[in-house]
Amino acid sequence: MMAADSGATVLEKKDDSPKMPDKKKTKFDVVIIGAGPSGYTAGIYCSRAGYDTLILSGILPGGQLVNTTEVENYPGFENGIMGPDLMIEMRKQTQRMGTTIVDDEAINVDFRDSPFKILTGSEEYEGRAVIIATGANPRKLGLEGEQTFAGKGVSYCATCDGPFFRNQELVVVGGGDSAIEEATFLTKFATRVHLVHRRDELRASKVMQERAMNNDKIQFHWDSAVTDIKGDQKMQQAVIKNLKTNEEKTLDVGGLFVAIGHEPNTQMFKNQIDLDEEGYIVLKNKTKTNIEGVFAAGDVHDRSYRQAITAAAFGCMAAIDVDKYLTEKS
Ligand code: NAP
Repeated sequence: MMAADSGATVLEKKDDSPKMPDKKKTKFDVVIIGAGPSGYTAGIYCSRAGYDTLILSGILPGGQLVNTTEVENYPGFENGIMGPDLMIEMRKQTQRMGTTIVDDEAINVDFRDSPFKILTGSEEYEGRAVIIATGANPRKLGLEGEQTFAGKGVSYCATCDGPFFRNQELVVVGGGDSAIEEATFLTKFATRVHLVHRRDELRASKVMQERAMNNDKIQFHWDSAVTDIKGDQKMQQAVIKNLKTNEEKTLDVGGLFVAIGHEPNTQMFKNQIDLDEEGYIVLKNKTKTNIEGVFAAGDVHDRSYRQAITAAAFGCMAAIDVDKYLTEKS
């Protein structure tokens, strides 16, 4: 399975006996920062290859999937699986492979020399190699109802959640490529998609704009913002306000998709790791960053796919690249 997956035989199982986490241990072969699908997958592959591996999971392990309800598109679960349950399974599998997981947050790094140093509030960890898997967070509207109805109508991923909203009216907020792509995708399921954008022109590329403009199911609400999200057990209404006239209207909708961009969690890597203008990690080659021995996986560099399965795949790739790097070094 491994060789067929990766085309490489380097990541052979060397020791799969469970290792008890040693709280005082601070020196590792590999330190993975982040515990979403990419971090856990990287942990599984690194530990299975025999590397002493630490995951610093942050205070809320599990990444974005912890805020998701049902996940229908992650292979292996015929009837779907709840997002938090999927992350618990990944964590348990990673621990069974021998990865040490510490639920603490990395707050600073020193990548000047190997071994690389990763600092939490209370500890300094060292890794001969590092995988950055800190992910990205969708930008929020900042409305109270957004939090109340998260996973109960409010979503940040049309690909993930669109099929749950068949035959309903929906709102998409945003005017960039994501919003237009999501609105267009959602017309496969929805009876109508209300695209709410704060200006009177879209930021999205011309070709995507034209596709959306020619789609009868998409209704544009220009110069507008969502000001309230209402409902009971699930969201049922979105209040939108025209920012020029202050006129408000209430839309009866089953769901609201926020597509106003993402913020990669890269603040602490600034000045050490090459980032693009929006803060995403720039990769030199496959999973390699500008610093030899420091790799990145998942949404922290990927602005295109942003799926659990692609993040997991990037984690696998980073682990294989770490193995090659450490093998060549030793
Ligand atoms: P984006 O290009 O930054 O667009 C964000 C949109 O949300 C903008 O229209 C912005 O309005 C709006 N917005 C931002 N903050 C807001 C707020 N607080 N309230 C209301 N609206 C707000 O983000 P994106 O669409 O996620 O795209 C990110 C990158 O990925 C882009 O480079 C994009 O080209 C790329 N991408 C490409 C594809 C594709 O090619 N298939 C698909 C998706 C994304 P303003 O326009 O007024 O600033």
